[in-house]
Amino acid sequence: MRFDTIILGAGIIGVSTALHLQARGRSVCLVDRSEPGEGTSFGNAGLVERSSVIPYSFPRRLSEVAKYALNRSPAMRYDPLYLPRIAPWLFRYWRESSPERLAIAAKSMLPLVEASVTEHDFLVEQAGCADLIRAHGWIETYRTQPAFEKAVSELKEIEPYGLRFEVLDNANFHKLEPGLGGAVLGGIHWLDPKTVTDPAALVKAYAGLFEARGGSFVKGDAATLGHDRDLWMVETAEGPASAKEVAVALGPQSSLIFQRLGYRIPLAIKRGHHMHYALDEGAELGHSLVDAEAGYVLSPMRRGIRLTTGIEFAPPAAPANTIQLDRAERFARQILTLGRRLDEKPWLGLRPCLPDMRPVIGAAPRHEGLWFNFGHAHHGLTLGPASGRLLSELMTGEKPFVDPAPYSAARFGS
Ligand SMILES: Cc1cc2nc3c(=O)[nH]c(=O)nc-3n(C[C@H](O)[C@H](O)[C@H](O)COP(=O)(O)OP(=O)(O)OC[C@H]3O[C@@H](n4cnc5c(N)ncnc54)[C@H](O)[C@@H]3O)c2cc1C
Repeated sequence: MRFDTIILGAGIIGVSTALHLQARGRSVCLVDRSEPGEGTSFGNAGLVERSSVIPYSFPRRLSEVAKYALNRSPAMRYDPLYLPRIAPWLFRYWRESSPERLAIAAKSMLPLVEASVTEHDFLVEQAGCADLIRAHGWIETYRTQPAFEKAVSELKEIEPYGLRFEVLDNANFHKLEPGLGGAVLGGIHWLDPKTVTDPAALVKAYAGLFEARGGSFVKGDAATLGHDRDLWMVETAEGPASAKEVAVALGPQSSLIFQRLGYRIPLAIKRGHHMHYALDEGAELGHSLVDAEAGYVLSPMRRGIRLTTGIEFAPPAAPANTIQLDRAERFARQILTLGRRLDEKPWLGLRPCLPDMRPVIGAAPRHEGLWFNFGHAHHGLTLGPASGRLLSELMTGEKPFVDPAPYSAARFGS
């Protein structure tokens, strides 16, 4: 069990990194405590979000902050008892969300976002899983005229990014989505993104390609990672595995390794839930919808209609709950005749987030052979293949396809 590289974590980030390293001639051992794609990558909204060129920032307008402070929105919820623990991180996030800092974050993320669809296309073709991909974008929907007009007027700001979209008035929206009720006034149809009808199956298909090409996927606990002279070692179900290099792609659990090794990286968790629904006879949903004013997503998935909730600040280890889901479901039923819930309990996912809205991709500043690839927040599905490519280029000494400086762990002084 001797390899060139061990990758800890087989979510979308770890699996994509494994494929890119393998393509560059490395022998790779991919280690996870579960099957590939069973972590946060399992239950997301399935958007390969090519149009998300401005990261999700902390609201700066007082009216918005006041709305969220009431703690009744499906878009954001906080556990009051958890607030004091997360407050220092929220303050950093707020500071990084100033217009100037947000512009820096957007500029830093742009090359990865721009590459997101083409990098997926490349892996999808090789993995032979095109049946999981839909190429007709998603729709941002509005319920009230002022909010719709405001969103349309803000489109000017993103003109320089050259994104393709279509503003849908009421008639055109309902022509495109005849199965939806009258609560939707209109929307913006984003045409560049693609959507995935089963994100876990996509990760498994990528992992299958990795194994079919001779890569090793083994079960093991990343907590057993050790270091002796120039070798990294981890205990797996098939015995100890060792390599000169190890990449941490444990998503929300990445602190398990970096904290132990003395890195002070401010990784925080934004929780999110999902539930699947049957559709009542005659009802249909053609596109993924983001109900912008209510703050949740409806996606037609293989299993049914998946409703994914917004952000929840609560202890990461606390059990899943239905608070935001119940709120969002009430809104969703106003636009689509959802049938019964299909899952016994809601799925809970943990978005791994950094306050400056960028992931950590690159070498660990103080340990030879240790690499990081985590913190992809709201857009890990989108960014997985592009991030995997970037890290593999850095690890193999190739010229990176984007400037890696904004993603360096050293930005936190660690
Ligand atoms: C509700 C919701 C909706 C979302 N919607 C979207 C969307 O539409 N589009 C988008 O781009 N992104 C979306 N995201 C974000 C996206 O899902 C994440 O950014 C992404 O899945 C993170 O991938 P990852 O590989 O870093 O982490 P994970 O998928 O969590 O992978 C980490 C892996 O590490 C493994 N692991 C953890 N601890 C150990 C250990 N001790 N030993 C061994 N293995 C371990 C886990 O089993 C897991 O497989 C959404 C997230 C949520 C919660």
